[in-house]
Amino acid sequence: MDTIAAIATAIVPQQGSVGIVRMSGSESMKIATTLFHAPGQQVWETHRILYGYIRHPQTGQLVDEALLLIMKAPRSYTREDVIEFHCHGGIISIQKVLQLCIEAGARLAQPGEFTLRAFLNGRLDLTQAESIAELVGSQSPAAAQVALAGLQGKLASPIRRLRADCLDVLAEIEARIDFEEDLPPLDESEISQKIDSILNDLSIVLGTANRGELLRTGLKVAIVGRPNVGKSSLLNAWSRSDRAIVTELPGTTRDVVESHLVVGGIPVQVLDTAGIRETEDRVEKIGVERSYGAAKSADLVLLTIDAEAGWTELDEFIYEQVKHRSLILIINKVDLVQGELIKSIFYPETIKNIVTTAVINNEGIEDLEAAIIKAVNLDNVEVENLDFAVNQRQAAALRRAKISLEQCLNTIKNNLPLDFWTIDLRGAIYALGEVTGEDVTESVLDRIFSRFCIGK
Ligand code: GDP
Repeated sequence: MDTIAAIATAIVPQQGSVGIVRMSGSESMKIATTLFHAPGQQVWETHRILYGYIRHPQTGQLVDEALLLIMKAPRSYTREDVIEFHCHGGIISIQKVLQLCIEAGARLAQPGEFTLRAFLNGRLDLTQAESIAELVGSQSPAAAQVALAGLQGKLASPIRRLRADCLDVLAEIEARIDFEEDLPPLDESEISQKIDSILNDLSIVLGTANRGELLRTGLKVAIVGRPNVGKSSLLNAWSRSDRAIVTELPGTTRDVVESHLVVGGIPVQVLDTAGIRETEDRVEKIGVERSYGAAKSADLVLLTIDAEAGWTELDEFIYEQVKHRSLILIINKVDLVQGELIKSIFYPETIKNIVTTAVINNEGIEDLEAAIIKAVNLDNVEVENLDFAVNQRQAAALRRAKISLEQCLNTIKNNLPLDFWTIDLRGAIYALGEVTGEDVTESVLDRIFSRFCIGK
């Protein structure tokens, strides 16, 4: 394979202290020797770091002072010869180094091409390769943990086991087709039982898909409610708490404040309709419309009311707009209401998730977080004990495998010929192979790796 090169580190002008240019392929050592000058008696051996200078091979002009890391095949990320130049992080010099590599015979790598080579050379399976992209893109410690589990092969091993079990059943059936006279008759109920048990294990793995989706894409929560009920104060109190990792990002629209928190390990994007302070009717109406807009794109709506004011007409109006959504009612400002009276605050009995808060005193935030986790917690107990999670692509393939296995059970039940059983089983085996990459088309690979960053 040809030699590829890319900048492997994030390029942020004036911010990176080290920038890495990475090459992989049979020419990478040769290219390195034409560009890199290592003074003294340094030995060009694998898994060594050399110190020196990168110079223009023709003019001899100095480009950067750098370290050179040599990782010869097969002990490298791609299992090919890999060279890394660790340069000063300046965007200009690092791009110059990349350009010199290309002029010396390397080709600019496609997104994810290093990892694709690692996959094609058998160093990683497809679930591990996808986990690398997920690790790089993870936005919460829990998401990173799940990605690491995938990278360690914790997702691949149950899938391989399922596929091996299907292959065993297939072999048993095919033996009957080929050598019918020499073997005892097939025990149909035993075969059905085996498929049942495979289906059961498959469902458990598939059960991690919801959590995976939540961890990867995060949860979008909208705080809605009429002006002055305490929405911004809630967000402030929440953002300040130790449990939250906050990265303030500019909102997608001028009127919605977006905050990114981590609640129970799940990245949560909170949308707050801010900036609406006046209480004249017209502005209130705009506020309501904006709340409604934010609520429409959210997975979970936090409808906030003022305990002292009780359930007002405007609260009712907002509730009417959002009542079909997954919803938690926050009764805020309970510090202004006598203890016993809190219970008598009216709200529609259709609302089942209620939390009382006094966000001004940081009270009730933990209860709110617990209510959020409960509202989105879709995992069953068996799934809870697994530390990996399947992504959408893997889940789709697993669902295809499930359908094929269910079809196989029907085929057996309807006494169809053995050939039909094998067709269904092969469908399941193919789908399971797609997850780990044992059976996978080039277009699927293209789709997966094009989502990686260049240099990975
Ligand atoms: P928003 O318009 O819904 O964002 O409401 P704000 O967060 O701006 O709060 C409106 C007013 O209510 C402010 O003066 C807050 O200090 C006050 N407030 C918010 N939460 C509480 C609370 O829990 N208790 C009390 N007593 N006042 C609160």
